Amino acid sequence: MKKIPMVDLYAQYKTIKKEIDKAIKEVISKSAFVGGEYVDKFEIELAKFCGCKYAVTLNSGTDALYLSLWALGIKPGDEVITTPFTFFATAEIIARLGAKPVFVDINPETYNIDENLIEKAITKKTKAILPVHIFGRQAEMEKINEIAKRHKLLVIEDACQAIGVPVTGNVACLSFFPSKNLGAWGDGGAIITNDEKLAEKVKILRNHGSKIKYYNDEIGVSSRLDGLQAAVLSVKLGHLKEWIKERQRVAKMYDKLLDNKNYVKGHVFHQYTMRVKNGKRDELKKYLNDNGISAMIYYPLPLHKMKPFLGEKCNLPIVEKACSEVISLPIYPELENKKIEVICKKINKLNVKC
Ligand SMILES: *Cc1c(COP(=O)(O)O)cnc(C)c1O
Repeated sequence: MKKIPMVDLYAQYKTIKKEIDKAIKEVISKSAFVGGEYVDKFEIELAKFCGCKYAVTLNSGTDALYLSLWALGIKPGDEVITTPFTFFATAEIIARLGAKPVFVDINPETYNIDENLIEKAITKKTKAILPVHIFGRQAEMEKINEIAKRHKLLVIEDACQAIGVPVTGNVACLSFFPSKNLGAWGDGGAIITNDEKLAEKVKILRNHGSKIKYYNDEIGVSSRLDGLQAAVLSVKLGHLKEWIKERQRVAKMYDKLLDNKNYVKGHVFHQYTMRVKNGKRDELKKYLNDNGISAMIYYPLPLHKMKPFLGEKCNLPIVEKACSEVISLPIYPELENKKIEVICKKINKLNVKC
């Protein structure tokens, strides 16, 4: 049997080939390569899909986080509360602005920041909370927004794995990295927000600090989305609702066959992640890989254990345990039930404790 990958972007392309090929030809014929009408069109569609007033596209999810924090005034000496169980960029951009990421432990079941531990981490220097909707599951936003309101803090959501989850903070950041739920054919990202001033500010920052071409009012960066990416994303956005449903189908099937309790409504399942106890996780990964089934460890090391963030005293036992036990299984809209059965049979056969 052919190897079962974590994602199959070519299988996805085959289902929308006609639409995509047409869209790409159009961009080329109009030479609308950076910014321009396809980007404008995609921003309108994206805002609508997300139920937000504004979407501003950028050239990565990392820049979406970076420009959000920058535009909201995070500066050297500030503290931003976040989770240690995420991709490096979440904390990297806090540090890049000279601010300090303050890591709070996670909920062992949702893998999201434990909202009950946030208040203890607030100091006079705290300016913002940066929750991540990890693996596509929304963090406890009701409680997080309530805490933020009481302490007058900003809320920046890292929704890079969770397009489709409603925005409830000041701003949410999306990534269109190819393997994300809505993936471009290269790098891409966006912020979505209801804050007009913030949207305007990010638009200026992404374009060298200029609102009018060749009149630069401040220092910015170059972080625009390509027209080709926007055209690809527009086509794919039209299928995203059904693709999310397919991801939920895959997750439900894993839950049933693995006797696992991961499935919750509203989860867009960027990853399907389970735990393996008693130090057997790496054995399971090797066994699956040897049998032609991909499996990945997201994430093997919590951020407070990464070199740039060592030195801070952290007591985060729950995330450290999670990093030693989690394993993510293949999940993508085109994954057939037959293949899920094969994967589950193999896992059950090894008889590891979940
Ligand atoms: C992918 C991802 C990012 C970064 O997005 P890029 O588009 O790769 O820059 C940030 N945070 C999380 C949680 C991600 O999954």
